[in-house]
Amino acid sequence: MKEQARQARAESRVIGLVPTMGALHAGHLSLIERARRECSPVIASIFVNPKQFGPNEDFSKYPRTFESDSEKLERAGVDFLFAPEPSEIYSGGFSTYVNVDGLSDRLEGRSRPGHFRGVTTVVMKLLQIVQPNFAYFGRKDAQQSRLIAQMARDLNLDTEIVVCPPVREPDGLALSSRNVYLNAEERQAATVLYRALDAARSELAAGVRDALQLQAALHRTLSAERLARVDYAEIVDAESFKPVIRVNKPCYVLLAVFIGKTRLIDNLYVEPKSPDSEELVFHF
Ligand code: AMP
Repeated sequence: MKEQARQARAESRVIGLVPTMGALHAGHLSLIERARRECSPVIASIFVNPKQFGPNEDFSKYPRTFESDSEKLERAGVDFLFAPEPSEIYSGGFSTYVNVDGLSDRLEGRSRPGHFRGVTTVVMKLLQIVQPNFAYFGRKDAQQSRLIAQMARDLNLDTEIVVCPPVREPDGLALSSRNVYLNAEERQAATVLYRALDAARSELAAGVRDALQLQAALHRTLSAERLARVDYAEIVDAESFKPVIRVNKPCYVLLAVFIGKTRLIDNLYVEPKSPDSEELVFHF
């Protein structure tokens, strides 16, 4: 991979990297499409990173569909697929980690201790191996994208981090490799995340700015769904990911909800229409 990337750099080509854990869906493919518009070559990686799964998480049962993934990537026009083995990425004695302090302790980081350290470490390694001009991430994982952008800035990386909007099912459910864990009843119930975000949007559109009132609207929708158990439902500042009191700057409405045993996350990005405007723009 290093050799191929070195050659592309020597030819002054613009390299795009799309890191994934495989089990590819239309969300991943939207990142590839964006990369193809801006870069050549486009490199996709598939690596189910053991270091970002907790001891009681789904590393061993995470969906692995390499054959169909590589077909999808080929059809999507990816130039290179980088799919290393864990032993190649973490050779014996591996002991250097990247951690983004503060940001990685909140929300997802709090619910999944060590998760973000695993993510930033592997993404840093992928960025070192490929040294792309652009690397593409999904805003569906809002905190992760924010952390990676912070890491790139803090460590003076030459890669620009590009964050792309989430792709959803027609009923609003954000595509996720973990959606395959849901049975038919749970799949139906899983729309509650989108419905809760939409309830928050409708309060905001009606002029509500108070975070507690918005949280109450989230909980009203979520608690009406029998199969849903809320991990967190927060309104946070889009930079710091700290809770806000009022929505008067760019914010995320963030959800992490168990549907049965499957943990799903989703978010709504909200920003003022212009710096001094009371009017908000919503990005699902
Ligand atoms: P994963 O394979 O789950 O690690 O995801 C790889 C990349 O795809 C990450 O940058 C995710 O944020 C992004 N991604 C996951 N789901 C979606 C989605 N529904 N829409 C757009 N991007 C997504």
